[in-house]
Amino acid sequence: MRPSFKTWSTPVTHELSRLIPCNLCGGTGFRFHFACEGFGYVRCRTCGLVQMNPQPEVAAVARRYQDAYGADYLAYEQANEASFLGLQELALSDAGFFDLEGAFFAQGRHALLDVGCATGALLALLRDRGWETTGVEICTPAQGYARDVRQLDVRGLPLEENRFPDGGFDVVLASHVIEHLNNPGGFVREVYRILRPGGRFLVTTPNIEGFQARLFRHRWRSAIFDHLFLFSVKTLSRLLIDAGFRVLRVRTWGGLAAGSAPKVVKGLCDRGAKAIGLGDVMILHATTCPGGILRGR
Ligand SMILES: [Zn+2]
Repeated sequence: MRPSFKTWSTPVTHELSRLIPCNLCGGTGFRFHFACEGFGYVRCRTCGLVQMNPQPEVAAVARRYQDAYGADYLAYEQANEASFLGLQELALSDAGFFDLEGAFFAQGRHALLDVGCATGALLALLRDRGWETTGVEICTPAQGYARDVRQLDVRGLPLEENRFPDGGFDVVLASHVIEHLNNPGGFVREVYRILRPGGRFLVTTPNIEGFQARLFRHRWRSAIFDHLFLFSVKTLSRLLIDAGFRVLRVRTWGGLAAGSAPKVVKGLCDRGAKAIGLGDVMILHATTCPGGILRGR
């Protein structure tokens, strides 16, 4: 049997699913993309978005992150906390986030929201750097941990149900979240609504056009039951632009999964993938307003 390098996921179940139109362009014409055991992906003939179809319904997806699987998810996040935090810091640095802090703080802009904040490790770090932090985490055990252990302001529910005020945040972060959502378009529009003019959205997600996705296809580490959408730089950029954002910077990283090749080969692939934009994961840095603060780009 081939070794599995796939990311943690809730197990495949036969939840209530239905065929959905393309979440990006509304198209209903699809090409088969690839199938995994128990689920499969199609590519929109019009815009190229790759989505799981048929797709489990909202209530079924929400239930995955509670109860027994919620505890499993928290354990997974805790076991990998240091490495995930290191990757997130590096991604934010690559995307130019830390260059912004001085200009934002000088203007009294400190309000930051991390959607899908897990154990709150990144939020705690950013709080220590001077940000006024809020988190959203739908996994109840992870939310409780971030609140009780790290004393963070972490809300439950999906983002849209929190009813944050218009323009209440200067920065919104969402790392490895958007691919889990039934309606990524609605999510991006909500982020736009709660950001101030000139606010920033930094969104991280696996890259379906990356080297690993092309090589491994259905065996790709990110082709998992919990990933309802698999974005490329092009499809995610279009989703952001359609919501009103301007994309300022795109970075990708990761050539081969850890353990899948000798260290020297992996190192070469990692550097090559990053240099040519074929990395396994991508971060897009977008602003709400073309006339917003662009210092620190
Ligand atoms: Zn489409």
